Amino acid sequence: MLKTPAYAALTAKAALVPFSVERREPGPHDVLIDIRYCGICHSDVHQARDEWGRSIFPMVPGHEIVGTVARLGDKVTQWQAGDTVGVGCFVDSCRMCEACRDGEEQFCEQGATFTYNSYERDGKPPTYGGYSTRIVVDENYVLRIPDGMPLERVAPLLCAGITTYSPLRHFGVHAGSRVAVVGLGGLGHMAVKLAKAMGAHVTVLSHSPGKRQDALRLGADDFIATRDAEVFTQHAKRFDFILDTVSARHDYNAYLGLLRRGGTLVLVGLPEASPLSAGPLIMGRRQLAGSLIGGIRETQEMLEFCAAHEVAADVELIPIQRINEAYDRLVRGEVRYRFVIDIATLNRG
Ligand code: NAP
Ligand code: ZN
Ligand code: ZN
Repeated sequence: MLKTPAYAALTAKAALVPFSVERREPGPHDVLIDIRYCGICHSDVHQARDEWGRSIFPMVPGHEIVGTVARLGDKVTQWQAGDTVGVGCFVDSCRMCEACRDGEEQFCEQGATFTYNSYERDGKPPTYGGYSTRIVVDENYVLRIPDGMPLERVAPLLCAGITTYSPLRHFGVHAGSRVAVVGLGGLGHMAVKLAKAMGAHVTVLSHSPGKRQDALRLGADDFIATRDAEVFTQHAKRFDFILDTVSARHDYNAYLGLLRRGGTLVLVGLPEASPLSAGPLIMGRRQLAGSLIGGIRETQEMLEFCAAHEVAADVELIPIQRINEAYDRLVRGEVRYRFVIDIATLNRG
């Protein structure tokens, strides 16, 4: 076993503290990755604080991982030592069900093995995420980072990037689509950049009026502050597609009213239950959908798309010792726009 320094939440109420995990020796099809950067997703906070229930403690969060291949199992064919690679939200799946065969492993009917807060396929041991110096992953669940990308800004693509890219593609956003992004956080700011790169006309809907300049700098064409309820009347029926990335309880019905006839609201933010009524869906035959990250094939496609369009996250790089402060700032909406941990700081103890 490979003793590996990490940071963990020991209980839902506790701050994250230095911890040590045992990584398995790489099997024939495994890749050992030295982690360089790990993004901080709001899902890390939801799970470390057990806001979704069923959290497994101790928990080492982190599923926006970028690093370097250090060692390979003897049957590995796709990777070489020194390759720059990524690991996202899951590290395995059954590989046989319809979802897996379709390349949508995140929807594995047997349950995907998530990068942390999950169990290996044999039901034990628990998985531990990227707030650690290294990780061992099956070669088929590793992503190639295109050459020349700024690595600390690439880490957030492994969750925030794919989670927003996948629904934009799946629901056919194209040049000229009128897109709104609700919530300008980690996911939201990636959605703005990606939708712009796809040629859409992009509007940010935010409950933080102070983010207007940032939204425009990130590429948005328009910004609407949602604290003023009148805007929901002023902008009724304006958008073809709305991507809702909000992490806190809010009223979906108001946003449905902003869709044109036949338009689609896709939820990716996962707060506690929020109100929903049939009326706004029926009036205008509007559609409501959800979306979960993306499969390995689509995540690789997203990375190539980002390389081609020079898209990467806006990040604030932090030492791991500031993780708890970063969580508090994330919940207060103070991040511009993704915290990323410099994993080299973990070796400092
Ligand atoms: P984040 O960086 O904290 O961004 C969330 C944004 O929501 C904030 O920046 C804020 O934007 C808005 N917001 C926060 N509190 C609000 C409130 N009380 N009322 C209205 N708006 C509020 O979080 P994130 O990492 O982007 O994650 C967003 C959500 O997506 C989380 O629930 C996360 O668990 C979920 N998620 C889902 C998937 C998936 O596959 N479906 C993947 C990753 C994450 P404004 O200030 O602009 O309003
Ligand atoms: Zn995430
Ligand atoms: Zn499966």
